[in-house]
Amino acid sequence: MSIHISKENITTDDVSGFFPGYHEVHVLRLDKIHPVISGNKWFKLSKYLEYAIQLKKKGILTFGGAWSNHIVAVAAAAAAMDLKSIGLIRGEEAEKLTATLIEARSAGMQLHFLSRDDYRQKKIPTGITVDDYILVNEGGYGAFGALGASAILDYVKGPYSHICCAVGTGTMIAGLINGSDPATEFIGISVLKNNLTLPSEIEALLIGIKHNWKIVHDYHFGGYAKHPIELINFMNRFYVDAHIPSDIVYTSKLFYAVKVMADKSLFPNNSRILLIHSGGLQGNASLRKGTLMF
Ligand SMILES: *Cc1c(COP(=O)(O)O)cnc(C)c1O
Repeated sequence: MSIHISKENITTDDVSGFFPGYHEVHVLRLDKIHPVISGNKWFKLSKYLEYAIQLKKKGILTFGGAWSNHIVAVAAAAAAMDLKSIGLIRGEEAEKLTATLIEARSAGMQLHFLSRDDYRQKKIPTGITVDDYILVNEGGYGAFGALGASAILDYVKGPYSHICCAVGTGTMIAGLINGSDPATEFIGISVLKNNLTLPSEIEALLIGIKHNWKIVHDYHFGGYAKHPIELINFMNRFYVDAHIPSDIVYTSKLFYAVKVMADKSLFPNNSRILLIHSGGLQGNASLRKGTLMF
């Protein structure tokens, strides 16, 4: 896998035509930095990598599922910095590795498969010297992750009244809130079902008390990575009408949610809305060929 990260490819696309009635709706295309590495993961990992180098660690040890954007991003980001990476993968090793794990391994990640019980207990396999590595939570959750994500704002040409993004662990949105002025309202679309501890997990990463954000829990489509046909149809329509590919786990649910909220006139007139395309397109490889038009 080529691990050249092309931040110069990041664009801001005007999709106002898809949201009639609003002044301006833009999409920040972090997905364009790399075909496999999620835009937001690269930002979230940057401070962990710096820290690993500073402490002269061998690399990064982290956790994730077989289709995890985070796992493949860690593999690539570590390799780009000449660091090692170890991925502890949830579930027994399948006969056929997923496309994600093939990419991760080809970037040099050492994979270990943990039973679901061992995974829950974060049991480190014997033979790994934990002290040699920086441990990074599943999804990159943590203060370092949020700090790294704040740098996404360097690519935001505001001002925007609203910035909307998909939310998993909440690390990215916390970093964005920390780095922004309080006049911008942040709306996070949770991709997990009933993740009611999410707001407190975000609060734990905020610097100071902030009121300019909220989490919407109504657009998970049945839960993490669930993608009923209604969502697939929307993804194809969004691609045809707005020329933007989305992924089944995160960004499709963001775009869908904002479309519904806009159609219900939940944003004030003349809002200037920015949607963060956080990447994740590699996860679409789990779909049967032909499901998507892109
Ligand atoms: C991980 C991920 C997110 C969620 O980021 P969090 O910081 O965990 O909230 C959003 N979009 C994509 C494409 C991701 O890979």
